[in-house]
Amino acid sequence: MIIQPKIRGFICTTAHPNGCAKAVLEQINYVKAQGKLNGPKNVLVIGASTGYGLASRIVATFGADAKTIGVFYEKEADEKRTASAGWYNSAAFERYALEQGYYAKSINGDAFSSEIKKQTAELIRKDLGKIDLIIYSLASPRRIHPDTGEVFNSALKPIGESFSGKTIDAFKGEVKDVTIEPATEQEIKNTIAVMGGDDWELWISYLNKEGLLASGVKTVAYSYLGPVLTHSIYKNGTIGKAKEHLKATADKLNDTLKSVNGEAMVSVDKAVVTQASAAIPVVPLYIALLFKIMKAKGTHEGCIEQIYRLFKDYLYASKPLSRDEEGYIRLDDLELEPSVQQAITSAWSTITTDNLSTETDVEGYRNDFYRLFGFNIDGVDYEQDVNPVVEIPSLVESK
Ligand code: NAD
Repeated sequence: MIIQPKIRGFICTTAHPNGCAKAVLEQINYVKAQGKLNGPKNVLVIGASTGYGLASRIVATFGADAKTIGVFYEKEADEKRTASAGWYNSAAFERYALEQGYYAKSINGDAFSSEIKKQTAELIRKDLGKIDLIIYSLASPRRIHPDTGEVFNSALKPIGESFSGKTIDAFKGEVKDVTIEPATEQEIKNTIAVMGGDDWELWISYLNKEGLLASGVKTVAYSYLGPVLTHSIYKNGTIGKAKEHLKATADKLNDTLKSVNGEAMVSVDKAVVTQASAAIPVVPLYIALLFKIMKAKGTHEGCIEQIYRLFKDYLYASKPLSRDEEGYIRLDDLELEPSVQQAITSAWSTITTDNLSTETDVEGYRNDFYRLFGFNIDGVDYEQDVNPVVEIPSLVESK
């Protein structure tokens, strides 16, 4: 199959196996070049196939020599369709990890379900005994409640009043005005049910009950707060409410984990291009401006650079850097630097379709988006006929 990108709205429906593999290798090489970390031994990453979760799995393995189990929900290829990018990423990650003698196994299925939690627990018990780090990095538009079967769909909306602002169609290169009506009470509740801390709490309580948490275990979930410019749609919107719930869950989990001397934390990460962030209105334009300014300052980072810092400076440092007054780890410190935010605020009102490509890094945004699916990667021949069917070597379960 000759595989080319097929963009539909804010998703690409194809992915390239060789491109995804090369992008994973670039992240591995970045971590290896930084040097070894004094890190965890046995790690579970929930949401391990793309974005921040994949970066966490790579840092744990190649930075700290840890054994990893990755849980994700990805699509396998068939004769007509490519696999999803996360499938190819995980296949490549496992190949590289196994080649270099690391333990790495994966579970493909709905992490919100009791069944996948049970299978993961069995695998931990059989292969690792106990785990000392759990990364929770799910991003999903939907959750089926494991007990009631209720389906929750998240909504990315403001709360209380409608929001009007600018957004972009990055692929057409157009700046557009957008108005989003406020969420209903039900939509707020549903978004909290999907992206809040409920499922994280279920995972940790279950693994604790099963006696699978090592003494001193750490668990980290990822969040985003962002600048005032995006507050009405992000921090003060439905997704922000879900993220508040995530933080409240961390505080609750700290009680649960006292018995194993463990700790739950929320790390606030920087805005990057991932499948999750591309779906949020306004955020892509903000990211295109942010990239322009951070690249010019030399402070631009992707997932892998931040997660390496998370392990080195916060989770496993002999003297960890301090958290903010609410207890958050702030990997978004460089994004929120006043000079960066001032530059974005003053440029914001001047951005139009005509100057989008010169005044923002929309090109970098698009490039990162293609790269998520294994396209635009140097050294990959996209005219070559490739087999889309790729196996994940140590896949334990596929549903
Ligand atoms: P992503 O879309 O790249 O990754 C999501 C992961 O979740 C994938 O591995 C996917 O397979 C998995 N997943 C989704 N639904 C699942 C299910 N039902 N069962 C099992 N696995 C499932 O997302 P991301 O951007 O890396 O986001 C991860 C976390 O980081 C989120 O909490 C997000 O809010 C946070 N974050 C993202 C950004 C950003 O700019 N992208 C910034 C800060 C924080």
